[in-house]
Amino acid sequence: MARKVGMRYQRSGRPISVSTVHGLLRNRLYAGSFEWLGEIYQGIHEPLVSADIWDAVQQTLDSRSATNVRAKPLFFPFTGLIRCGHCDCAVVAQMQKGKYIYYHCSGFRGKCPERYVRQEVLEEHFLDLLRKLRCGRQEFEDIRSDLEDVRSGDAFLSGQVTSLRHPHPLPGTPGALLRDGIGLLEMGRTAHLQLTHLPDKMKRQILDLVFQRCSWANGELTGHFNTPFDIFADYMAESAGRGRTSALMTKLSDALRHATPEIRLLVGRYNAMHRTRGVDLRANADDDRNFRSDSGFRRLAA
Ligand SMILES: [Zn+2]
Repeated sequence: MARKVGMRYQRSGRPISVSTVHGLLRNRLYAGSFEWLGEIYQGIHEPLVSADIWDAVQQTLDSRSATNVRAKPLFFPFTGLIRCGHCDCAVVAQMQKGKYIYYHCSGFRGKCPERYVRQEVLEEHFLDLLRKLRCGRQEFEDIRSDLEDVRSGDAFLSGQVTSLRHPHPLPGTPGALLRDGIGLLEMGRTAHLQLTHLPDKMKRQILDLVFQRCSWANGELTGHFNTPFDIFADYMAESAGRGRTSALMTKLSDALRHATPEIRLLVGRYNAMHRTRGVDLRANADDDRNFRSDSGFRRLAA
């Protein structure tokens, strides 16, 4: 309101700041008194506001800061994951009327053409991206079996090929890396079914595992998968209805067995996640019926 009526700093001519307005509201000089060396004195100037109004303002400010301190900070599942596709600013969230959550470009680099988007709509876009990893249970078992059979050069030469099917491979061995990597992919294959039912913090964790970066522009979400999900998505796209594509299978197998530090980090985070939360997404997984009943992309009205 102060800015609307044109309150500006005398020297710089810039619009008045929030902290200056706060200072004005807290200053008892406007109510006719002043504070000096810890004592309050009555001034001889004419007050601009009555002592009653000034007291009421102080009470309002006090109660506001008290609630802010006590209130739990809001957690938005999709902030920190998405950048604006127009200006590369962070996409941030805002609660409206105490229940609707909207996401928008922070506009840090100036005015941005992108419109606000509701959280539910954004989630549908994430589900749509996650469907690139969808894979029925039986199909996944075939992939698991193929992954265990594909011989990577190193494992073959060092004689570890036989250990890849061992039920309890030693940590750090190709067999253990492969087992953990397959566990990660298994989470990915059902993520589109599970995401909606998870608490917000887990939604964020899952999306953080799966996506390297996402951007939002013109009402569309673009996502880049982390390895190994990127290879898995390529494999699923290529193998759909056209039989196996062994080149991608070899690539996937190699990525899991010679796990890069990035993949090891993903696996470690995923293992820690379902250990600490007692949730095993693999155990929750659906059967193939769920995949058939899954209705595909539903676009909510913004
Ligand atoms: Zn923007």
